[in-house]
Amino acid sequence: TSIFSAVEMAPRDPILGLNEAFGADTRTTKVNLGVGVYFDESGKIPLLDAVKRAEKTRIESLPARGYQPIEGAPAYNQAVQKLLFGNDSPLLAEGRVVTAQALGGTGALKVGADYLRRLLPDAKVYISDPSWENHRALFETAGFTVETYPYYDAAARGVNFDGMAACLKSLPAGSIVVLHACCHNPTGADLTEAQWREIIEITKARGLVGFLDMAYQGFADGIAEDALALNLFAASGLQFVVSSSFSKSFSLYGERVGALSIVTASKDESARVMSQIKRTIRTNYSNPPTHGGSVVAAVLSSPELRNVWETELAGMRDRIRTMRQSFVQKLQAKGVAQDFSFIIKQRGMFSYTGLSADQVARMQNEFGVYAVSTGRICVAAMNTRNIDYVVDAVAAVL
Ligand code: PMP
Repeated sequence: TSIFSAVEMAPRDPILGLNEAFGADTRTTKVNLGVGVYFDESGKIPLLDAVKRAEKTRIESLPARGYQPIEGAPAYNQAVQKLLFGNDSPLLAEGRVVTAQALGGTGALKVGADYLRRLLPDAKVYISDPSWENHRALFETAGFTVETYPYYDAAARGVNFDGMAACLKSLPAGSIVVLHACCHNPTGADLTEAQWREIIEITKARGLVGFLDMAYQGFADGIAEDALALNLFAASGLQFVVSSSFSKSFSLYGERVGALSIVTASKDESARVMSQIKRTIRTNYSNPPTHGGSVVAAVLSSPELRNVWETELAGMRDRIRTMRQSFVQKLQAKGVAQDFSFIIKQRGMFSYTGLSADQVARMQNEFGVYAVSTGRICVAAMNTRNIDYVVDAVAAVL
């Protein structure tokens, strides 16, 4: 008999399953709001002009494809650090940040999780309730027990800050707390500056380890603005971990461009931590691919291309904001009594609409409008052509 004869079918990824159902739907009016991808006004994943120009230059130079260093290209890693912490960060001057290129934000989380599991074998990991659906599985697969801290208050349509703070205050020292640095996925509800300061105080007092996941820098208020939490952590003197991704901000999803950064207490610690990170990477995939990282590094280090990119990023950010406002206005205009104005305040690509699993199922069955069963929609999947149809569907199932 085959060694695979008793293998069970693993559960389908819920979001990918939704995409499959959407793909099989033959209605021409169908809309997929279940995705985690930015679509432009024409409903396409954009190829940014800054990226095109950097790629063209790179391809014309026909670079050899030697191995990269285990931790990736130094130019890329330095560019990442400056984007996250700012050009003039004292942490960078002091050599307190180590950065390794990673396979997207997911790869950064995985390398970080594997490394922390060796460093803190007795720690538990705490993720927000709810969180990005891969956080739990990712840290569990690294060997951790994963629990949640309260995060979203569905009735108030915002952060349950008291619940979150009380939970973090009760955690044992050394616990790892995964925090969404900005644009919380899936709720779109972020902490205020004052709340971040309080979380940092708790982190310090309880000896917790912050793991900041930054997948949407530039999608809320701006590149520097969205790094607020990171910079408050940086100023606090704490050690912490950051996973970051260019999937969204550069629209480079399939190129897998991200980074793991760890803030240590000294340059000497940094050297030792980096040696351990390299060991983790070496035994996983040896070293990262060249193309995406070199394109991002080229854009970030050229004043001209960087300017182009920042304008394009602002364009994506503004379009999402416009869609949020338009969605709320159109629901109102349609005579929907329920107040949806909270959607305007949510940040990033996603919105927790408050629609129930039944309502989501009805939108899918009756209208071919697909959303996640939790009521999460991707605002960036709406455009001026499909928004009225989406509004009709929502109004019909309320
Ligand atoms: N963290 C969060 C919160 C995310 O939403 C995502 C992906 N959408 C990731 C990490 C993973 O990013 P990447 O696609 O770059 O692996």
